[in-house]
Amino acid sequence: MSTFRDLSGITPSGQLTLGNYLGALRRFVQRQYEVDGYYFVADLHALTVDHDPARHRQLTTSTMALFLASGLDPEQATVFVQSDVSAHVHLAYLLECTAHVGELSRMIQFKQKGHRPGTRASLFTYPCLMAADILLYGADRVPVGGDQSQHVELARDLAIRFNSLYGDTFVVPELEPVALAARVLDLQDPGRKMSKSDPEDAAGVIRMLDNPDVIAKKIRRAVTDSDNEVLYDPKHKPGVSNLLDILASLTDQPPRDVATSITTYGQLKQATADAVITTLKPIRRRHDELLKNPAELNRMLVMGAVKAREASEPFLAAANQAIGITR
Ligand code: ATP
Ligand code: MG
Repeated sequence: MSTFRDLSGITPSGQLTLGNYLGALRRFVQRQYEVDGYYFVADLHALTVDHDPARHRQLTTSTMALFLASGLDPEQATVFVQSDVSAHVHLAYLLECTAHVGELSRMIQFKQKGHRPGTRASLFTYPCLMAADILLYGADRVPVGGDQSQHVELARDLAIRFNSLYGDTFVVPELEPVALAARVLDLQDPGRKMSKSDPEDAAGVIRMLDNPDVIAKKIRRAVTDSDNEVLYDPKHKPGVSNLLDILASLTDQPPRDVATSITTYGQLKQATADAVITTLKPIRRRHDELLKNPAELNRMLVMGAVKAREASEPFLAAANQAIGITR
């Protein structure tokens, strides 16, 4: 096994979507055999905005069940819930003591949403928690999509500053821009991406747990255009190209090849719905089984938490020691 540590979290800010599966989960499952993988449900990051505790608890459990149901193997990778490993919060505080107010004020989320009345202080400080998520595991390369690069840059800056103030403690992570698989776009508004935090009943968002009828209906109603020509052209035909991208990604073919084998929009929608349903059905079944068997789910959660605590402990101890906490 390579010593490269791959680390990624997903915040349970809504029911996971087909985009989360194709863009993240499926890649985790493939990579777990090649790298030392750390995959976690970032439950603490969902608390920076208004939330309902019962829904939060349910989403955290369901997201973990989807990680496992998609094929993440707790023996192979370290699969855990962030809040089960208290070192994340502890190190986040040490990094708050390293970060400057100025650099946190420049983070995009805070700039966009931080000045509304009632903004939680954690919306200002969460980038330190994210830096802790990364630095705790000595991740040397962090695969990130464009929207996350500012967070990894901050983690790098904090690691470098901490090391120079208190002595060499953290591995300084490199950004590894991932060649993002095509972004899955909203079926009703292919001008933007599908997102789990969209309203629960959004017709353009396919959830991993939608039942087959709902999936077929959402895809049947997907926005296309009036040319009635199946062509892969994301710029001029975003709706049709999005369906081709989904189908291509699920069947492991280039979208242009898929386009040549299909003649009508009706056929395209039918084939896409069939492929999505075939992929998600067993995952949904396994998810439901896990939720009905809390002992099994719990056993896997404990295994993940123990592995994550073991892996993070040396880095937390080194940070405590360096900053002057005696114990
Ligand atoms: P939120 O609305 O809370 O931001 P999200 O659906 O955008 O939710 P993130 O938590 O931002 O999801 O990202 C989790 C992972 O899913 C990341 O690896 C991200 O690149 C991937 N991802 C999210 N949406 C898509 C999408 N539409 N297509 C492909 N990948 C996606
Ligand atoms: Mg997002």
